[in-house]
Amino acid sequence: MNAVFQTLCARLKAAGVPDARFDAAQLYRFVTGRDPRLDDGPTPAEAVRLEKLAARRSAREPLQYLLGEWDFLDFTLKVGPGVLCPRADTEVVCESAIALLQGGQAPVVLDLCAGTGCLGLGIARSCPGAQVTCVEKSEAVWPYLTANTTGTGVRAVQADVFRWYQTLPPDSVDLIVSNPPYLTAAEMKALMPETAHEPAMALDGGADGLDFYRLLCSRYGTVLRPGGWLVLEIGCAQAQEVLALGAAYGWQKGSCRKDYGGNDRVIQLQKPLQTT
Ligand code: GLN
Repeated sequence: MNAVFQTLCARLKAAGVPDARFDAAQLYRFVTGRDPRLDDGPTPAEAVRLEKLAARRSAREPLQYLLGEWDFLDFTLKVGPGVLCPRADTEVVCESAIALLQGGQAPVVLDLCAGTGCLGLGIARSCPGAQVTCVEKSEAVWPYLTANTTGTGVRAVQADVFRWYQTLPPDSVDLIVSNPPYLTAAEMKALMPETAHEPAMALDGGADGLDFYRLLCSRYGTVLRPGGWLVLEIGCAQAQEVLALGAAYGWQKGSCRKDYGGNDRVIQLQKPLQTT
């Protein structure tokens, strides 16, 4: 234990950082490469770097942005200002999609509003042979998405999902996964300090938070093959609304799965096998 580390913990705690000790240890290790519990203290150069990061974390910039990478499932993604941080809540979305793809031969998969690419990359890792395309509109996200997908076989496309479906042949996709922006206008006004540093474009789902679910349910059915799946992350209070939207647009087998925090998190909807 050393005095600099103790001061860092106290400073982050005073700034209201939720898990101050954990974050302090992460930053200390990031800068020095050493365990703060066993270390005598930073060198002067390390102390300068640590001070800069402490100031940013105290201003409640996400820890993920300061470290520049973050784990998702069993792999690590490049992250930073401008991209939504991959969240543990989202892992169950990826697992749901992987389960639905089991047994398929070279399935065609789209990850819409891909951000870091965590969902599409997670699917590609678990489903060898899958042809995965990550679609993302944001210019700011592009460097992270391309860095994360390079060398993985996953394709990245810069496009606006509100128009991109028009370019796709009908019945050509096996599964669409998406963690779209889904916060309501009220939620956008009451963001956690860390979330307020993340791009509004990745969070803002319109007045009632459902704009992207309306789009996906109404426009992306044609693109899927009969029996194909739409697998969507939702906010924990949106299950009934999104299931109702799915039913209204003719999707079947609607179901909801919880994340590991016990909150409703994933909606699965199937395109009917045959239209009646
Ligand atoms: N899970 C994020 C949050 O609550 C929202 C992500 C999203 O809108 N897709 O901060």
